[in-house]
Amino acid sequence: MQLKDNYEVIIAGAGIAGVSAAIKAAAGGSRVLLIEHYPFLGGMSAAGMVSPFMKSYAGDQELVEGVYKQIENRLREAGAMIDNGYYAWAFRAIANELIWQNGGEIAFNTDVVDVQTDGHQRIESLMLATGSGMKRVAGQVFVDATGDGQLLVLGGFPWLKGDEQTGKMQALTLFFRMGGIDVEKVAEYTKHHKEDFLEWMDFKYDFSRIISIAGFKGPLYRAQKEGRVDKALEYIFFTTLPATGEASFNTTNIVGIDPSTSSELTRAEMIGHQQVAEVVDLLQEEIPGFGQAFLVDTGVQVGVRETRRAQSDYMMSGDDVMNQARFKEPVARASYGIDIHDPEKGQSRLEHLQREAYYEVPKGSLMVKDAENLMVAGRCIGATWEGHSALRVQPTSSATGEACGAIASLAVQNAQSIRQVPYVQLKQKIRFNLENH
Ligand SMILES: Cc1cc2nc3c(=O)[nH]c(=O)nc-3n(C[C@H](O)[C@H](O)[C@H](O)COP(=O)(O)OP(=O)(O)OC[C@H]3O[C@@H](n4cnc5c(N)ncnc54)[C@H](O)[C@@H]3O)c2cc1C
Repeated sequence: MQLKDNYEVIIAGAGIAGVSAAIKAAAGGSRVLLIEHYPFLGGMSAAGMVSPFMKSYAGDQELVEGVYKQIENRLREAGAMIDNGYYAWAFRAIANELIWQNGGEIAFNTDVVDVQTDGHQRIESLMLATGSGMKRVAGQVFVDATGDGQLLVLGGFPWLKGDEQTGKMQALTLFFRMGGIDVEKVAEYTKHHKEDFLEWMDFKYDFSRIISIAGFKGPLYRAQKEGRVDKALEYIFFTTLPATGEASFNTTNIVGIDPSTSSELTRAEMIGHQQVAEVVDLLQEEIPGFGQAFLVDTGVQVGVRETRRAQSDYMMSGDDVMNQARFKEPVARASYGIDIHDPEKGQSRLEHLQREAYYEVPKGSLMVKDAENLMVAGRCIGATWEGHSALRVQPTSSATGEACGAIASLAVQNAQSIRQVPYVQLKQKIRFNLENH
């Protein structure tokens, strides 16, 4: 399909946040363009091979329903999801289907390379580098869902990066998958080496469900001492995927990198593959159950937990997260706590909320400061470093994307600015993410 000159809503970046924004805005009747660097959808959910979806519950109440639930339901129907673990290929296919069915347009293999403003606070158009040359597209409302805050940078809007004190960013991880694992044998091994595993493990396994195992500290530390494995690794962590004997590894730990720069991301890619090879060797050689196991694949790219985030009308903080903040105009609810993977080799920080607890995310954290028609969703949402570490997970990224999509389509429909959209109207559109069912 040829790109048009004009759209009502333009969304940059097609990770789960951009996908959710596009589905919602298109379902709301807007002419939507979703722009993506890769020739497929999903961002971290596909290229990063990040699985599982983080659970988003307060007690037994699911906090994110809306578009996220649509994606989840279709993944289950396709047999590509068990519990909260899913296949990246299925995410790509299903997200595609949902966008086309709702009437959104996608420009794959296309990068946003410049942002034209009216010289003040309003974006007028984006310059795109497409496979067939440069193309300018104009729009009324814009959503930055690039994870890296690309529209913020290119448009000269305010943003932050990393820890407020040091500027450092969370460690990166190149996901990989192994097959041919005898999971029951590995599980048996863990029961005899409990001291090697993380505190949250209860060693009671139900093999019909997803299983998470994290630790192997004894063999890992020995291998590190002997120079066989990079010292930056903290532990080995995997979750089994639907097919028997397959598991997804969130294990490599690439530290001291600023992934917003091409040179550092290049370095991260090389370190990531080296670490994968080292861990696979270690498991195959030393851990019962991995004797016949093999490496299936790695993420298309290294998983990036954070780069830039917006300075927004409201900056959601770690205290908001841990103290269960409530707001006058919430757009999402979540229960994931502070989760900071140490930027240097050190102790990562993970703080959970109580089982029944949840917090709200306010509309203000989507509204970019000093920008009239630009919102942020997902990984580049407006938050402090601590706040961001909780909000970045997939269900919350989907919910914030969905809220941006709803606001955008209402703004177009009402011929209002994004901040003028009446909250009662917005709430009606995203009520599934705000009320108990
Ligand atoms: C290692 C790791 C482990 C994680 N573990 C979990 C977990 O277990 N559970 C969980 O729920 N979450 C987890 N997360 C968090 C979660 O995966 C991400 O934060 C979330 O998927 C981000 O979604 P997003 O849509 O905001 O951004 P992204 O998925 O990063 O998508 C941004 C998209 O924008 C595109 N883009 C960027 N710049 C441009 C441009 N200029 N032009 C066009 N396109 C552009 C990119 O190609 C990309 O597709 C993890 C993340 C990482 C990295």
